[in-house]
Amino acid sequence: MISFSDFLPQGAEIGAIREQIRKKRLVHALLITGEPGTGKKTLASLLSNALMCKDNSDIPCGVCTGCRLASSGEHPDIVVIEKGKPLSAETTKGRSAIPVDDIREVIRICSQYPFEGGNRAVIIYDAENMTAQAQNCLLKILEEPPQNTYFFLTSSHPDQLLTTVRSRCRPVKLVPWNVSYIVKILTDAGADPEKARKAASVSSGSIGNALRLLSDDEYWETRESVMNSFFRNAKRSEVLTISTGWKDRKNDSDMLFSILEDDLHRLASHRFDRPENDDISEFPDSWQRFADKAPPERFTGLNDRISEARKQTSFNVNFQAIIEQLLLAFIGEHDLWVN
Ligand SMILES: [Zn+2]
Repeated sequence: MISFSDFLPQGAEIGAIREQIRKKRLVHALLITGEPGTGKKTLASLLSNALMCKDNSDIPCGVCTGCRLASSGEHPDIVVIEKGKPLSAETTKGRSAIPVDDIREVIRICSQYPFEGGNRAVIIYDAENMTAQAQNCLLKILEEPPQNTYFFLTSSHPDQLLTTVRSRCRPVKLVPWNVSYIVKILTDAGADPEKARKAASVSSGSIGNALRLLSDDEYWETRESVMNSFFRNAKRSEVLTISTGWKDRKNDSDMLFSILEDDLHRLASHRFDRPENDDISEFPDSWQRFADKAPPERFTGLNDRISEARKQTSFNVNFQAIIEQLLLAFIGEHDLWVN
């Protein structure tokens, strides 16, 4: 669904890697970093698949045995290591991390000629999960990588890797995706454009988040309730009715507070940060004016109120009363800056 060329807007280094695959000059180890959901795993897997193509092209032909095996996830020369998935029966212990046994097994595999006679790719997902011993063991093979063997490490926390491991890898940093690009990817995959736009706008630039949200009906239902309660219908005269509606929904409180935080974040960043990434047209006009007028500390103030509400919920304060207070805080701010 997502292709290599989708990554090109991520920056020049992706184009450079593509060029290196074409010229058979790819470095032996890449460390792909970035926030969760920026496509690190997808990129590692696309790169590995490209290396398996018998055509030796940066765009896999899709029809050769190499491509077919790779896309079915069964290519014997793509070795995937991740926490919780033992590489072989002998490496089952210590699964709370990636144990040194997994890396020893990789070294053993890499000492043999690739099954298909071409390249070999070793992917280590969330590489920071390697124990220090595992990392030190990996270091040996990174220092003298076997011919035609390529390592792809992914990590959202590269600072947790040994410096020595980091320094052996070429860094590739993925950044949060542009909203319009996420919308394109979602709609290309068949998503309803309106829903895709909404999912993208609350995805924090993560395609993974956007995809998860798309199919989460409970989320959309709660989101609509939050929009109605705190923005569309929020008036002093409605506080009792609205808070009564939430009274028995304490179980949804986590989702409610996160959606509300997210709404505030969108209103704020529309003005202060990246207007192109935050479409606020679904908010009522008066809240859009609030977004244009209110100083930053007012957004922070409302955020503090949400944190307070969260804390009170965990202390078992009456949930309806919490919602009432929060509503009044939102209405108060709104009226102060809009009327
Ligand atoms: Zn191919």
